[in-house]
Amino acid sequence: MQPTRNLVTGGAGFLGSHLVDRLMQAGEEVICLDNYFTGRKVNIAQWIEHPRFELIRHDVTEPIKLEVDQIWHLACPASPVHYQFNPIKTAKTSFLGTYNMLGLARRVGARLLLASTSEVYGDPEIHPQPESYQGCVNTIGIRSCYDEGKRIAETLCFDYQRMHGTEIRVMRIFNTYGPRMLPDDGRVVSNFIMQALRGEPLTIYGDGLQTRSFCYVDDLIEGMLRLMRSENPGPINIGNPREFTIRSLAELIRNRIQPNLELISKPLPQDDPIQRQPLIDLAKKELDWEPLIQLEDGLTRTIDWFREQLGNN
Ligand code: NAD
Ligand code: UDP
Repeated sequence: MQPTRNLVTGGAGFLGSHLVDRLMQAGEEVICLDNYFTGRKVNIAQWIEHPRFELIRHDVTEPIKLEVDQIWHLACPASPVHYQFNPIKTAKTSFLGTYNMLGLARRVGARLLLASTSEVYGDPEIHPQPESYQGCVNTIGIRSCYDEGKRIAETLCFDYQRMHGTEIRVMRIFNTYGPRMLPDDGRVVSNFIMQALRGEPLTIYGDGLQTRSFCYVDDLIEGMLRLMRSENPGPINIGNPREFTIRSLAELIRNRIQPNLELISKPLPQDDPIQRQPLIDLAKKELDWEPLIQLEDGLTRTIDWFREQLGNN
């Protein structure tokens, strides 16, 4: 049997590179496509000479022709600091990038999995969030380029399915953390760990009572692989339902690294969602998936990795 030919867009990024590892370890063929906006070659360096691996520097806002069986469409900056750096480009990446990848999927008969996000729910009015909830998104705020970009990307997927019979899988990813997050990407887990490792105060935005639910990267990738294989197009929430306030996360990380560090307040960014927790009944039923790694264990692995990075610099 021929190995499955996979295209991973955003494959040099945080989640993409972990997915590439799993696909390569499973004996499949992988084309990793990235423009290196937030991705790094070092994340996939171990595969560069491998005969089943190919690396293409390309921007998904431009069309591309390739022969593949499966498209894992992850290309898009995910951290607010990065997606707000050039919001027009972020919207283009989501819309044109997904449009181009769906065009490719249609042409070659490939199945496409879209890495969508819990941000399609915006600042949710119901809690926890099931897939049937249609969201509360500001169309004109500083997060809209990302949130609305992902919403139109989902729409395109379902219109390609209806009009052209394209095989799609839509995954709504909730906050995920782990090794290979960029130390300066502004996301809360990487910020708190880096601040604590450097002996600096941890910066809490607002009162710190807003909540997030954090999924370890290995659990997330397992859910992604299962969704691609399943017969359900989604959308399906993949995330860890254990909810934490940002203040309790800060205390947890500080106590692991340097318990005497200060927690300081900074202004809450505009449109920052108050609470976020996935309902994962659908993933349990359809994919037989649920997260296995507790925050405490995942943080240990992540802190160790960041420590190593600091040591190497
Ligand atoms: P990341 O920033 O580490 O990875 C994104 C990758 O896409 C990077 O390698 C970047 O260089 C590449 N990229 C960006 N724009 C591109 C373009 N125009 N053309 C080609 N490549 C481009 O982010 P991540 O955390 O790995 O997120 C991956 C995907 O998962 C994103 O689509 C994101 O929206 C989604 N997601 C992630 C999370 C999370 O918590 N990590 C949560 C929800 C959704
Ligand atoms: N946050 C914080 N301090 C930081 C970075 C983030 O308090 O140094 C807060 C942020 O305001 C948000 C939460 O942590 O309420 C998660 O932020 P992140 O950027 O990681 O993800 P998102 O807001 O996209 O879920």
